Amino acid sequence: MGMCFVPDCKHYSEKQTCRFFRFPLNKTERNRWISLIRRKDRGPSHFSKVCDCHFIDQDKKNEPTLFDFNINPASLAL
Ligand SMILES: [Zn+2]
Ligand SMILES: [Zn+2]
Repeated sequence: MGMCFVPDCKHYSEKQTCRFFRFPLNKTERNRWISLIRRKDRGPSHFSKVCDCHFIDQDKKNEPTLFDFNINPASLAL
């Protein structure tokens, strides 16, 4: 089983129709994803995945940029 690594996203690979992407192995790309996702409690493991809901056009090449904290301006005030 796998849950999306993005904070506040409750998508499971079993339940949702979205695809799940592993973190890039390339260190630069990987760190880029980590800073974009802004998860504070822990870093990604080998099994961490991000669902395609966070990618423009559901394309892994676009990097994960679609999050609640970006879409909803109110969450930025927290
Ligand atoms: Zn997600
Ligand atoms: Zn999703």
